[in-house]
Amino acid sequence: MTMTRTLDRYAEAQGGCELDLSDNTNLWGTPPSAARIVSNATSAGISRYPSAYSNELKAAIARYVKVDAEMIVVGCGSDDVLDSTIRGMAEPGDILVEVSPTFSMVRAFANVSGLRVIDVSRYSASLITSISTIDAPITYLCSPNNPTGETLDLEMIETVAREVSGIVIVDEAYIDFGGESALPLLATCDNLVITRTFSKAFGLAGLRVGYGIGAPALIKRIEAARGPYKVTSVAERVAIEVLDNDIDWVRNTARTARIAREEFTRELEEIGASPIKSQANFVLIPVKHASVVSDDLRDRGIAVRSFSSLESIGDAIRVTVGPRPEMTRFIEALAEVIA
Ligand SMILES: *Cc1c(COP(=O)(O)O)cnc(C)c1O
Repeated sequence: MTMTRTLDRYAEAQGGCELDLSDNTNLWGTPPSAARIVSNATSAGISRYPSAYSNELKAAIARYVKVDAEMIVVGCGSDDVLDSTIRGMAEPGDILVEVSPTFSMVRAFANVSGLRVIDVSRYSASLITSISTIDAPITYLCSPNNPTGETLDLEMIETVAREVSGIVIVDEAYIDFGGESALPLLATCDNLVITRTFSKAFGLAGLRVGYGIGAPALIKRIEAARGPYKVTSVAERVAIEVLDNDIDWVRNTARTARIAREEFTRELEEIGASPIKSQANFVLIPVKHASVVSDDLRDRGIAVRSFSSLESIGDAIRVTVGPRPEMTRFIEALAEVIA
């Protein structure tokens, strides 16, 4: 048996820390209606399969984003939607272009599907030209971007969508915290798919629900590549409930996170750090020897995500923004560590 591709497992979070600021989930918790449904859930119904393509959830999302339900595909997290899009829209040997540094999972999915990944620096002066010259079947953009928190403007996204012959994925996992959604571009760009998730602002990471929005023909193909029965019946019910009855909780905690992010950024500057201006619920802080800094923080009971040699940035740690006491504890620990 000869395998040509090297497949690596995702470097999973180490866990075990008292304070976990490593995964950008909602540190204010879970929407009350979700907690209620899960704790009152009975086993009735779970001996049967959920609906194959989650039509009720798609209808609820369609109402929320104000598009037709045939423009929605859901998945087991938006990771599943990204993976299905790659599998459905490209062939082994094809190229996927990403604007780096960005979400590492996309490279992993592309690799598993046998695609080649080409990185274009988001700080390149000729970013748009480089992307359109490569003209790959899939271009991946992320705004606000993980791990930098920076956004792309709609004009840039629209130009890319117009210039390339393939599809453009715009990952909006953090759109509730800032930046401008690419949704209005769907009216004119039928090669655009926007992905979103219930894992971050919606406080439901453990349930694994995400979705994609795009032209019906594109969505149909992604859904075919995805396959049936991906969202569990409990997850579907909770996601619908939150969209219909608890969206204020989501909006309020997202607003609180935005305010906390600005405060946190100021405090980081006060202790001499140079955080990158973020529009997400996390902040990327360039530091020398990030893995050592992250180990030192771990010794103090705090988990962050460390990155080495990021394009144009170098080593850095990414820190999720949470409630005041957590942020104070982090600032005190970081000040000690970098002193
Ligand atoms: C967290 C994250 C996701 C998705 O997560 P799911 O939990 O699979 O929905 C997607 N894209 C980016 C950029 C993320 O940071």
